Amino acid sequence: MLLPKFDFYEPTTIEEACQIMAEFRTKAKLIAGGTDLMVNMKHRLISPEHLISISRLDELKKLDSSNGVVKIGACFTVADLADSEVIGKKLSALRAGARALGSPLIRNLATIGGNLGSARPAADLPPSLMAYNAKVVLKKSSGERTVSLNNFFRGPGLTEIQPDEILTEIQVETPPPYTGAGYINLGVRMAQDCNLVNAASLIASDGPGGVIKSARIVMGCVGPTHLRASSAEKLLIGEKPSEELFAKAGEAAMKDCSPIDDFRGSAEYKKAMVGVLTKRTLGIAYDEILN
Ligand SMILES: Cc1cc2nc3c(=O)[nH]c(=O)nc-3n(C[C@H](O)[C@H](O)[C@H](O)COP(=O)(O)OP(=O)(O)OC[C@H]3O[C@@H](n4cnc5c(N)ncnc54)[C@H](O)[C@@H]3O)c2cc1C
Repeated sequence: MLLPKFDFYEPTTIEEACQIMAEFRTKAKLIAGGTDLMVNMKHRLISPEHLISISRLDELKKLDSSNGVVKIGACFTVADLADSEVIGKKLSALRAGARALGSPLIRNLATIGGNLGSARPAADLPPSLMAYNAKVVLKKSSGERTVSLNNFFRGPGLTEIQPDEILTEIQVETPPPYTGAGYINLGVRMAQDCNLVNAASLIASDGPGGVIKSARIVMGCVGPTHLRASSAEKLLIGEKPSEELFAKAGEAAMKDCSPIDDFRGSAEYKKAMVGVLTKRTLGIAYDEILN
């Protein structure tokens, strides 16, 4: 399958990349690892006239953890996320998402920025990042803005990123003590398959055995974007963690989503799995608090 024709640019600074994006706007597309973009171009779903590679921008490949914030460059690869000690220690649910994504070959190329930029409702990294309340930095020639990931996705393939903007960094505040998070994905096959349902949960308590102060539960594949399970989150606040409570939250999450029937599974089955994954990810989150 041949690719459509395009002009290729390889800027060496973010400023240069922003200038090219500002010039060509909707006629251009950024390419990072290319694992989503190349497939879409080969299937002629998109045919950009200009491709701007950001894979040589070393500034976008950094991971920094200081002053209570973990900053991850947009071109940090999923393989590096999966192996990172910092991510494992501070954002274990994000590492679980990275380890679940694709195959070693895909993870070596795929980037965190590309995973967010492609805005697939089944993607593996958004649930944990949204549960951690991550923000993204969007940069253009005339300045930059920071957007909460909880307000970033607009629909399948659609985000807040404007045609002249580049997502440069993902920022996550280091979770405070007695906070835990978990992520689980479910597919028809164990690997190299689009998820059937995925979910991440985060709970923060006021001490070991204390009550839950805040909660964020994020579900994937059950709506046009990743969804928050708001009624399940409310139900948890002020309660002591227990298996019964997590099961009730799972039942509430089932009512917070709107899956559709497709060849991967029925809406009814996906809803049931939202209940199971919510309960289990809350269990993982609580184990993290206790350990
Ligand atoms: C065989 C296979 C298996 C896969 N399995 C999984 C899986 O299990 N889970 C999963 O979540 N995904 C999976 N994917 C999808 C893909 O690998 C991931 O979404 C990956 O993280 C995309 O990153 P990338 O760097 O390759 O993005 P690219 O393909 O380079 O870009 C994707 C989109 O994001 C835009 N973009 C990229 N970087 C930026 C940026 N910095 N700023 C603004 N826009 C940007 C691009 O313009 C493009 O629209 C799979 C893909 C393949 C081919």
